[in-house]
Amino acid sequence: MPIKLQNWWFTTLLGTEEAILPPLEKDIEADVVIVGAGAAGLSAAYGFIGKGLKVVLLEKNICGGDTSGKSAGFLTPDSELELSQLLRRFGITGAADLWHVATSGVEMMKERIQKHGMECDFQVQDSLYLGLEKSGWEAVQEEVASRKLLGFDQILYTKEQLKGIIGSDAYSGAVRYAGTYGVDALLFCQGMKKLLLENSIQIYESSEVEKIEDHKVSTHLGSVKAGQVIFCADKLQTQLTHFANNVYHAQTFLSVSEPLGDKELNQMFPNGRFQCWDSDVVYSYFRLLGTDRLLLGGGDMRTTFSANDLNSSRVIEHVIKKFKEKFPMLQDLEFVQYWPGRIDCTRDLLPTVAREESQPWLHFVLGCVGLPWATFCGDFAARHAYDDSACDDHHYYEYFRPDREFFVPLWLEKILGKQLVFSINNGWAKYYQKDVNTEATRQITRRREAENARHNQ
Ligand SMILES: Cc1cc2nc3c(=O)[nH]c(=O)nc-3n(C[C@H](O)[C@H](O)[C@H](O)COP(=O)(O)OP(=O)(O)OC[C@H]3O[C@@H](n4cnc5c(N)ncnc54)[C@H](O)[C@@H]3O)c2cc1C
Repeated sequence: MPIKLQNWWFTTLLGTEEAILPPLEKDIEADVVIVGAGAAGLSAAYGFIGKGLKVVLLEKNICGGDTSGKSAGFLTPDSELELSQLLRRFGITGAADLWHVATSGVEMMKERIQKHGMECDFQVQDSLYLGLEKSGWEAVQEEVASRKLLGFDQILYTKEQLKGIIGSDAYSGAVRYAGTYGVDALLFCQGMKKLLLENSIQIYESSEVEKIEDHKVSTHLGSVKAGQVIFCADKLQTQLTHFANNVYHAQTFLSVSEPLGDKELNQMFPNGRFQCWDSDVVYSYFRLLGTDRLLLGGGDMRTTFSANDLNSSRVIEHVIKKFKEKFPMLQDLEFVQYWPGRIDCTRDLLPTVAREESQPWLHFVLGCVGLPWATFCGDFAARHAYDDSACDDHHYYEYFRPDREFFVPLWLEKILGKQLVFSINNGWAKYYQKDVNTEATRQITRRREAENARHNQ
């Protein structure tokens, strides 16, 4: 059977009774309007629960209907930037600051799921970062050294030791650590939607914001005028905000198999179910769903920075072929559905989180790579929307400021094109960039010190 182009999470959603909400069809007023209901926008809205404010959430699709609801649902602090890469860029304090963003995002999601009993195929799954060949083994060791430096626990497996952990001899070693989970991110977003509605947050789906004028955002059928406006939207047009220019995207593909039998499960994961990814530049990643289906993702160099979704199975079929070479006992396993997804990201892979200086009521959370990053940043924007003098994390505005400098300057994008320059800047940020001792990091340090001093008074 040929593999079908269909998002598996939508297939799981069709089996539930989650309601689709009607669009905004009138002009209303609110204290806060949030644009975009992915992980970031939903987290921002959650931050306003119980604050006695009228909050409206506008989503052009359904909640989680874009990137969040296409994702593989690995809840791990690892994203496009590994800990060793953050350390190289920012030193120990900076890496700890940024790892805190990701780990607290993971914890926030876990707590919300558990506290509110959300049904979203939540799985406790240790992470296994798998090295390929000699360079992969070195990358694994570097990750272990970085984790030790920051005081984290992990287990290092040599190629020999990996035999009892994963049913493949293709990997040169691995690092394992806990505190990571798997989730059906679309059901999670829909669970958040239900929870927000129960807490009097107004949500309109199928409501794309097309215009912003002063405090008013307008869709094609209605508008919301609000004291605070928070954009957590993806793939924005520059006519809505010039910050849209900070963001491009990277494409990856996912597939889901038929359920594995007990024998295959035990051969593949003889020592517990892990969420795994490898050390390739365009890495492959896989984990088991609660239904024993295998979720497998990956991509290739040529299509990572494509302008649009590639609705062809060519790339994922290659990923599946390579995967089966590593796990020969799964040779006959059929993959039933696949889908592409484009993750918004900035040139240096850190998000843009900003308040317009001339319009401090207008907030942007853009280019978050990873559900945990989006969750933290949405919450951050909500906490800083009103009196934020009690917050002690203003320094994240410095890390995530929109006017950061990049290896290839922006004017070259006009000549060479955004796609090419973005890919070079992404690669540079990941493998070479050093931000320590730049004026930007000195500014972050000053901000931190001022916050600490204020806090210790
Ligand atoms: C295939 C794939 C696999 C991934 N796997 C993982 C993974 O395993 N783990 C992980 O942590 N991350 C993963 N990611 C990345 C992760 O999904 C994103 O980083 C995260 O979802 C970003 O959340 P967000 O809220 O910032 O953006 P989004 O989820 O894109 O939310 C933005 C929302 O804004 C809406 N919107 C846009 N414009 C407007 C407008 N004008 N008006 C109203 N609404 C608007 C969109 O419809 C969308 O719902 C993956 C992504 C993809 C595509």
